[in-house]
Amino acid sequence: MRRPGTARAGSTREGAARRHRHASSELVFTPEELARVIGLQCLVGGALALVWALLPWNADAAWSPPVVGLAAVAGVIGLGMVVLGAVTTSARVLARAVHSCILSVQVLVAVGYAVTGETGSPILLFLLWTTAYAGILSRRARWGHVVSTALLISAASTTHAVAVDAAEVVVFLMSTIVVVTLVVSRSAERLHEAATHDALTGLPNRRVFYRRAGALLAGRRGSGGGVAVALLDLDRFKHVNDSYGHGAGDALLVELARRLEETLSADDLVVRLGGDEFAVLHGSSAAVDVDDLWARLSSAWAEPFELEGRRLYVDGSAGIAIAAPTDTPATLLRDADAAMYEAKAQGTGRRRVFDRSTSAQGHRLLRLETGLREAVAREELTLVYQPVLDLADGRATGVEGLLRWTSAELGIVGPDEFIPVAERCGMIGHLGLWVLGRAVADLASWRSEGLVDEDFSVAVNVSAYQLTPELPRQVAGLLEVHGVPTRNLALEVTESAIVAGGEPRAVLDALHAMGVTLLLDDFGTGHSSLTRLRELPLDVVKIDRSFVSGVSTAPEDRALVLGVVQLAHALGMRVIAEGIEHREQLEHLREAGCGAGQGYLLARPVPGADLVEALARASAACAPSPKEQPEAARVRT
Ligand code: C2E
Ligand code: MG
Ligand code: MG
Repeated sequence: MRRPGTARAGSTREGAARRHRHASSELVFTPEELARVIGLQCLVGGALALVWALLPWNADAAWSPPVVGLAAVAGVIGLGMVVLGAVTTSARVLARAVHSCILSVQVLVAVGYAVTGETGSPILLFLLWTTAYAGILSRRARWGHVVSTALLISAASTTHAVAVDAAEVVVFLMSTIVVVTLVVSRSAERLHEAATHDALTGLPNRRVFYRRAGALLAGRRGSGGGVAVALLDLDRFKHVNDSYGHGAGDALLVELARRLEETLSADDLVVRLGGDEFAVLHGSSAAVDVDDLWARLSSAWAEPFELEGRRLYVDGSAGIAIAAPTDTPATLLRDADAAMYEAKAQGTGRRRVFDRSTSAQGHRLLRLETGLREAVAREELTLVYQPVLDLADGRATGVEGLLRWTSAELGIVGPDEFIPVAERCGMIGHLGLWVLGRAVADLASWRSEGLVDEDFSVAVNVSAYQLTPELPRQVAGLLEVHGVPTRNLALEVTESAIVAGGEPRAVLDALHAMGVTLLLDDFGTGHSSLTRLRELPLDVVKIDRSFVSGVSTAPEDRALVLGVVQLAHALGMRVIAEGIEHREQLEHLREAGCGAGQGYLLARPVPGADLVEALARASAACAPSPKEQPEAARVRT
């Protein structure tokens, strides 16, 4: 069994770079750019040679006319390269043209040097400008052109009368050319590395993915081989960052990159697309074996990660798209993304193969994510409020704020659909903060207008992902800015958010210590018992609608509600019943001693502007009939 890997950023980066340098033929300068630049060099070099040959004190020299001729040839070659760079897109043609151009310059310079003898040094400088460009194309080209320069210049220098002087010039010039070529090539390599590789993991980036996928798809067209893209995403990676710090998050990514590289075959390309998202481009001569691919991918996180002395188990999900004949790199990636969303929607550690017949759901999830990213800025979000009433006397004690999204593109989207998307794509913190800000601001204005009394509270739903160490500070800041007392704010959390312990627990403790009321939402839908939750700093338990709906018809539900109410009271917690739709339910809840409730029978969620009216209607609907009153007063705790 492999030992848990420890994160070594440097070695992975080098390994990845080594493996991919030879594999990626992407150039930091395109052949078109190189052709144009070298063409301009020839034009300028030719012009300078011309000026030099026509200088008054050189004009009468015997070598002047041939050099003028050579300069003219250089100009024509340069012009040709500039034109070629503008009209041809074939990388192969352009690369060959660049090599031929450099070789022609070498010949021209050698001839010029032979003709001018010792005075030819200015022409030799021309070589310095051109030979170095060969190194950008490839290592082989770099040394090939340096050798050809050396041979041509040595041959030209043998024609000189004073061979010793000429040898000095050749040695000096050649060493300068070697140094310049090395410097230029190295800089180009560094630029290439930065433009095509991810700085953290050293893996190739999206740009390389697009080029390689394009080439692979073009090569497979019509042939039987299979091409697939697997998009990988770590589950709850944000949690790792939030709990252990960004340093640990980075180390995890680096180690994961190393493991992915190790588990995949040489034909697969692993790239980091950003954040915790990786893509694997898989090309095989046979049909794609999805099970085998997933087995290899998931083995990358099968063993725990050792981060800064701590052992961490992580899971990942994958969306896999198998290329159809019409696919492009962009459509493949889009489909893999859609499949990944479907995988994530099913839970953690899942994989999903993109299926055209069910793709609509995946694409909708993608559109939801894209839309959500802009929803706040486009002011598409609103908060509606559902009154919460004291069941004993029908008094409105507060409201629950519920988020609504009217998307310009998708229409009205329910929170049950978009909240999970926001949680998965890391948007929930941003949305949650908007909700908190809106709710506190609205409560402040109702208070200042005298529409609600001093004790009236507003509750907002808080997702597990929002329980970060910054939350108490953010809440305190908002309350202070709007002048709202802490006790008037309530936060609703679900069981799953808090039973995990660890950091969320510490955040809840901090909020509770500040005086914020904490509600346990949807109680009964999770798996924990009230006794297990008793050590949590909770003030209120909200009984889920699924139990309330059966309270007047199913004896088991009635017994359950009664049990929850009694136990909650025994543990010093208050109870709110959710989703009261019928009068019989309300009466049974009263009988069971449930202190407060909300539901369509009393009031539907309404915009803040309609609150006063809704509160009045809800109170009227909730007011106990005179016959009920003594009973309710007797059982209420
Ligand atoms: P929840 O917190 O349990 O909210 C109660 C849901 O039940 C609301 O649905 C509400 O409109 C609905 N409801 C209330 N009374 C009745 C009733 O009598 N009958 C029926 N059938 N439904 C009733 P909504 O607004 O669609 O919210 C659904 C869930 O989305 C919420 O459940 C909550 O978990 C989540 N949510 C809403 N707003 C936010 C938010 O700002 N942040 C977070 N994290 N979650 C939110
Ligand atoms: Mg709620
Ligand atoms: Mg609820």
